[in-house]
Amino acid sequence: MHAQAGNDLSEGLWGVIFILALFACVVLHELGHALTAKRFKIVTRDITLYPIGGIASMESLPDKPGQELLVALAGPAVNVVIAAGLWIYMQSADLMPDLSKLKSADEIQNVPFVFNLFAANVVLVVFNLIPAFPMDGGRVLRAILAFKMDRTKATRIAATIGQFMAMIFVFFGFFFNFWLVFIGLFVFLGASAEAKAEDTKAGLRGVKISDVLMSRYSVLKPDEPLSNAVSLLLDSQERSFLIEENGEVKGILSRKEIISGLTEFGKNASVQNAMKTDFPHLKTSDLLNDVMERFETKEYSLMPVFKENKLAGVLDLENITEYLMVQNAIKSS
Ligand code: ZN
Repeated sequence: MHAQAGNDLSEGLWGVIFILALFACVVLHELGHALTAKRFKIVTRDITLYPIGGIASMESLPDKPGQELLVALAGPAVNVVIAAGLWIYMQSADLMPDLSKLKSADEIQNVPFVFNLFAANVVLVVFNLIPAFPMDGGRVLRAILAFKMDRTKATRIAATIGQFMAMIFVFFGFFFNFWLVFIGLFVFLGASAEAKAEDTKAGLRGVKISDVLMSRYSVLKPDEPLSNAVSLLLDSQERSFLIEENGEVKGILSRKEIISGLTEFGKNASVQNAMKTDFPHLKTSDLLNDVMERFETKEYSLMPVFKENKLAGVLDLENITEYLMVQNAIKSS
């Protein structure tokens, strides 16, 4: 009885160590992407780990197909190296299990730890190289296509191939393994999102900030109470406000800051307590595509725009979305 419990404990412990080792492999995979991106002067903001892998979010994406290809391949390449290292170790230490002798799934427990880790890395390589967004394979495919055609077209073709593969996954998932249905849906949504993001980018190519500038917007003074910001928020469609005094921008107050300001300081506190004072100084001549990432990362929802150091208006995401809708409508009419 006691021996049994001890056995369970050590099995559980090995399970935990295995999960930790697997996570380390995923982190190294993402570092592979991040460090390769760094060589092309692309900064990685953070790395998020999910149960099925990780995502390194970069401040921009490599535009040149050669660079995108290398950044996308660098992650799986790390797992290839780890798997190869474990393989060589197993060969030299004579730990290689005879897989043909495994008769049932239960016996997989008898397989050495290193072999499981080796197998997990092989799975990571294969899974990530599925040629569909948001997997690395989708980016590899787009990069290869982009050598021959423009990026928007390459993205569209890669996204269509990805969605086709996703449907095959879902189909087979119903018959064989329900997990495939989830993976299929994940891939399908990822492919749609990638195609949409690229369409936006294409639609905004060459568009200057002055083309989508908003000149009518509400402003607040730094010493006004937060309750004034709340009334503006509730009375209008606007969700973010400029804080101005004597024609000078002092800060930005978004819905998020209003809510956290109310919790922290109460409704009678002045807006300058809650406002964000570090904001970008955009120029009317800047290209819209260069600032879109700051919206996409939800860093800012509204940004002041200057012309010759004087406030010219504000840029907000809602307005850009409307601009794109209008442009699409004109194109298709
Ligand atoms: Zn990857």
